[in-house]
Amino acid sequence: MFNVEHIRQDFPILNRQVNGKPLVYFDNAATSQTPQQVIDVIVDYYSNYNANIHRGVHSLSQEATDAYEQARLKIQKHFNAKHAHEIIYTSGTTHGINLIANGFSTLLKKGDEIIVSALEHHSNIVPWQMLCERSGATLKVIPMNLEGELIMSEYDKLLSENTKLVFVNHISNALGTINPIKYIIDEAHKVGAAVLIDGAQSCPHIKPDVQALDVDFYVVSAHKMCGPTGEGMLYGKEEWLNKLPPYQGGGEMIAEVSFEKTTYADLPHKFEAGTPNICGGIAFGAAIDYMNGIGFDAIAAYEHELLEYATIKLSEIEGLKIYGTSKHKTSVISFNLDGIHPYDVGTILDKLGIAVRTGHHCAQPIMDFYKIPGTVRASFAFYNTKEEIDALVSGVKKAKMMLS
Ligand SMILES: *Cc1c(COP(=O)(O)O)cnc(C)c1O
Repeated sequence: MFNVEHIRQDFPILNRQVNGKPLVYFDNAATSQTPQQVIDVIVDYYSNYNANIHRGVHSLSQEATDAYEQARLKIQKHFNAKHAHEIIYTSGTTHGINLIANGFSTLLKKGDEIIVSALEHHSNIVPWQMLCERSGATLKVIPMNLEGELIMSEYDKLLSENTKLVFVNHISNALGTINPIKYIIDEAHKVGAAVLIDGAQSCPHIKPDVQALDVDFYVVSAHKMCGPTGEGMLYGKEEWLNKLPPYQGGGEMIAEVSFEKTTYADLPHKFEAGTPNICGGIAFGAAIDYMNGIGFDAIAAYEHELLEYATIKLSEIEGLKIYGTSKHKTSVISFNLDGIHPYDVGTILDKLGIAVRTGHHCAQPIMDFYKIPGTVRASFAFYNTKEEIDALVSGVKKAKMMLS
C-alpha cells in the first residue's frame, strides 16, 4: 500500500525548514531528494570498503569491485538490457550524450542528417551542433505544437535515407510532455537510422524497457531518481557499442598498451576510462532498489493524482497560464502569471519555503516558441503531498497580490 506519510520519513531533508517555513520541495525535475536508504549506502561505502576497483588483489578492492558490478546488474535488470556489458557507467545524461556524439563523428559525413526535437534540453542540442560542425552533417528539428507536443507528421517528412541519427527526450523537462518514442524509434529504424533517447526525465516516473523499445541508446542520470549527483548510465546495443570508438583514453579502458599500438578493453570497460564514481554507482543501484520497493505503478498513479489536483487548483487562479497541456504528461507544471516575471514569483515562493525552478529550464528554444522569457516550474515527486500543493497555490496567490 502506497503511504506518502510513511515514505516521507525516508527523506531527512523533508523535515527541514527554509526561511522559517517547512520546506516544500517542488524542484524534482532538476534533482530528486535522497532517501536515508541511499545515504546509508554512501556512508557505508566510505566507512567500510572505500578502495579502487578492478585492479587490486586486496580484499577491500574486491569488495568494492563486487558491489560496483552488482549495481551494474541491478541497472541492467531495471532497464531490461540484454547484457550487463551494454550498461556503461557515466557521470550523467550529459556525459552519455557526449559520448555518443563523439563516437558518431567518425561515422558521419557531409550530407548526413541528424534529427532532434524542438522539446530538447540544451544538453541534447549543443553536442549535436558540435557533431555537425565536426562531421559536416546537418541538424533537422521536429517542430512542436501549442500543447507542447511534437508534430509526428512533420517528423515523418524529415526522415529519409540521409537520416543517420535521431535524438529525442522521452519526457520534456520543461513541460512534462511524454513523447511517442516507440513510434519515433520504429520509423527511424525503417530508414536505417540509430536512435538515442534521453531518459533523464522518464526514469523518476516510469520503468523503461530498452529491449521492448528496441532503442539503440538510452541515457539517464542517477540524481533524478533518488540517487547521487555525478552518476548515470548509458545503455547501448552491443553491436553499436562495438562499432563506436572509445570516448576517453586512460586507465581501465585498455587491453594492452605500447607506444606503437594500444588495444582497447572489452565492453563495458572500453568506455569507462579512469577511476569512476565507485560509490556513486553503488548508490545508484541502491536508489533503483528503493524506487522499485515502492513500485513504479504506484509512483505513476500517485503522481498523476498530484498533477490533476495541482492543475485544477492552479487553473482557478485568474491570469495564470499553464504551458504544456498534452494529455500525455508527467507531474510537471510550467506556468506564468500574466504580466509578472517568473523570477519574481520564484523569489516570493522561496520566502515561503517553496522551492520551484524559474527560467528557461535549459530549454530556451521552447521559451522562444511561446515568446516568453521563462516559466515557473513546479515538478512533483512521489513524496510530495496535496497539502504542499495547497501551500503552493496560496503562495502563488500571494505573489500575484504583491506583484500586480
Ligand atoms: C537533467 C536533464 C539532463 C541533464 O542531466 P545531467 O544530470 O545534468 O547530465 C538532460 N536532459 C534532460 C531531459 C534533463 O531533464
